[in-house]
Amino acid sequence: MSADQTYVIVGASLAGAKAAETLRAEGFEGRLLLVGAEAERPYERPPLSKEYLRGEAGREKVYVHDADFYAEHDIELELGRRVVDLDVSRSELTLDGEERVRYDRLLLTTGAEPRRLPVPGADLEGVLYLRSVEDSDALRERLDRGGALVVVGAGWIGAEVAASARQRGLEVTVLDPLAVPLERVLGGEVGAIYRDVHADHGTRLLMGTGVKAFEGGAAVERVRTSDGRELECDFVVVGVGVEPRTELAAKAGLTLDNGIAVDERLRTSAPGVFAAGDVANAYHPFYGERIRVEHWANALNQGPAAARSMLGGDAPYDRLPYFFSDQYDVGMEYSGFARAWDRVVLRGDPASREFIAFWLAGDRVVAGMNLNVWDVTDPIQSLIRESVAVDDRRLADTDVPLAEVAQPATGPRLRDRAP
Ligand SMILES: Cc1cc2nc3c(=O)[nH]c(=O)nc-3n(C[C@H](O)[C@H](O)[C@H](O)COP(=O)(O)OP(=O)(O)OC[C@H]3O[C@@H](n4cnc5c(N)ncnc54)[C@H](O)[C@@H]3O)c2cc1C
Repeated sequence: MSADQTYVIVGASLAGAKAAETLRAEGFEGRLLLVGAEAERPYERPPLSKEYLRGEAGREKVYVHDADFYAEHDIELELGRRVVDLDVSRSELTLDGEERVRYDRLLLTTGAEPRRLPVPGADLEGVLYLRSVEDSDALRERLDRGGALVVVGAGWIGAEVAASARQRGLEVTVLDPLAVPLERVLGGEVGAIYRDVHADHGTRLLMGTGVKAFEGGAAVERVRTSDGRELECDFVVVGVGVEPRTELAAKAGLTLDNGIAVDERLRTSAPGVFAAGDVANAYHPFYGERIRVEHWANALNQGPAAARSMLGGDAPYDRLPYFFSDQYDVGMEYSGFARAWDRVVLRGDPASREFIAFWLAGDRVVAGMNLNVWDVTDPIQSLIRESVAVDDRRLADTDVPLAEVAQPATGPRLRDRAP
């Protein structure tokens, strides 16, 4: 199959490495080039804010494949090399150093990068971001030294870094303009549970405030907040979201829309060019719109799906979004995608830190999160995917198996009783 063809993947991280693996597993026999700007072979990023950052897991734990996997599968792994130009009309790309490569199929898995904070003092030494293994090494070295850390942003990265730093015994302050941590995704009610988890572990939370400036000599010494406080610190971690890396796609004139716009088979607007992972804003048949998912499981599964499309497969990518997070002794998994909801139903007692939260729109579950409760992702995803009407009381009742929640309720519904 296609032995005389060249397939190129730009971005040697999770989505790209899994796509390369799938191309070979599904019988692609042509030339296969995996190009990555980083010096490391493909690795997974979740440990970088968790066990790797805390020094509990070594470098060997983060790699996607063993070192000899690429040679064994005849995958030309070009590390420390950047694709600087892409001409889709000639099916040609330019590697740094002006080397040109013609491709028959191209996959862009260029990922995302941290959004920078445009405030005075942002360039001071000790104002750190976290995306790469080098970033995590630099941060780990700071954690080893101890002291006071200010985390800017109470999203996933900020919350996990704060937890890891507290676990290493540092003095940690987190600030964010929103009212509770993780509010953008979880909303106020469930975000408040995370606020309490952090407070219980001695993390100081300053919510409803932002950064006005970082101040210091050569290195940051304090953070001036928008509500007029001065926070003395030894270093800062900024975690205020990521931006999709679309520079190359933009140069090539591909259709962009909050990332690279792709259809349900992960095809971009240019023939023979595909995109997957954090950078791809993919049409999702279940949601009937494009969504861009910045999470591990999406990169893990969308890379292989794009590979199958490159080989001519016509299956749409329709997995429900899923992600996980670990903070202190609290682990969670979240399934679904909720832009809007009208209430949250809790199954279990949040004070026990073992419960499931469901986000509902009307009488349908649009998202679910299990916190320190395991092996329930399948029934939660079934509730979302089957989109059947559920009864709040049965959903909340831990005596009703999740698989039976969707059965018609016998009594009057809570909502029917509402005045
Ligand atoms: C610290 C951290 C913790 C995380 N924890 C979790 C978690 O707990 N749960 C979860 O679900 N998700 C988590 N994530 C998110 C998850 O890691 C990402 O969704 C995933 O890495 C996306 O993979 P990707 O392959 O799409 O892109 P990326 O991992 O961003 O990789 C893209 C690669 O492309 C390369 N590249 C870009 N442009 C070029 C070019 N022109 N030429 C050559 N190479 C190029 C980049 O250098 C990079 O190596 C975490 C992320 C981080 C940073």
